Amino acid sequence: MLPKIAFVGTGGTIASIGTDPFDLLDYNATGERIDAETLIERTGLQGAIANIVPVNFRQIDSTAITFNDWADLAGLCSELACDPEINGIVIGHGTASLEETAWLLSLVLDLKIPIVVTGSMRPLTGISSDAPANLAAAIRVAAAYADNPDVLVAINDEIHSPRTVTKSHTLRLNAFQSPGFGPLGFVDGPVVNITRAECNRERGKFSQDLLHLLPRVDIALSYVGADGAAIRSFIGAGAKGIVSAGFGPGIGTPDEVRALSDAVSAGLVVVQSTRTGAGQVVDSAHHRSIGIIAGNDLNPQKARILLALCLARGDSPREIEKIFQSI
Ligand code: ASP
Repeated sequence: MLPKIAFVGTGGTIASIGTDPFDLLDYNATGERIDAETLIERTGLQGAIANIVPVNFRQIDSTAITFNDWADLAGLCSELACDPEINGIVIGHGTASLEETAWLLSLVLDLKIPIVVTGSMRPLTGISSDAPANLAAAIRVAAAYADNPDVLVAINDEIHSPRTVTKSHTLRLNAFQSPGFGPLGFVDGPVVNITRAECNRERGKFSQDLLHLLPRVDIALSYVGADGAAIRSFIGAGAKGIVSAGFGPGIGTPDEVRALSDAVSAGLVVVQSTRTGAGQVVDSAHHRSIGIIAGNDLNPQKARILLALCLARGDSPREIEKIFQSI
């Protein structure tokens, strides 16, 4: 019997319709995105590898996803997982913020079935589009790991952890990478092979209700000459936390460090990450002395999500530090 997989469509390139097969770059100009039902119909996957239940959710570009969309999406996944006949959930998502949605869901969902997030780098109508193949691979992963409750990302024949995966190229089909870690596994035709276990010690530890309470948390990018004006503006705008996307080892300019130190004194929680795209930010004596928390190996956008959830829950800086240290 075929597995039963719910497919939730949120929009993105995977659902986008270009002007012709050669429209691979500016297809957003048409503004046309199809819903989950139409996408499943057009890919011809229904009944071929799974009994697919299309669920229309949104038809938006993933640059437009909001905290409310995340709350609704998490709620929808929880509802779908209550159906004992559904073996897994696949989410079609724009690639721009895919890694953030997957990471967020992994922190707030503790379901009995897997959630596999996928997208595509070329529109559904583009020449050699990766949309049908990525969708098929994601469905196969969800079906193969029906007893694995993780949130995973499946794209370009690879399976990645939401914790490590990042979009690392604007256009290439292999844009999604887990720098320094590599994929958790592969999808080769019908064969799904997970070779490494997902590691997220905070999986499902945050209540979905917190998604309605997320405070403002901003990211400050370091560059030569950065004078901390952005950090001071974030404080002025009411941020409750700041993630510093610092230089390589995880440090900002002296002016930025002064502004971050002022942020801590003003009661904000500051997490130090790095703009490098890979590697760990470790505790430094200097940061520790001014109350800045080391962001471990989370990239700035993922550190921001974790920090926002901790703050929404009312965690103390000491508790937040422990979570970042042990994630
Ligand atoms: N603009 C698209 C988005 O919704 C990009 C993509 O899906 O590849 O994120």
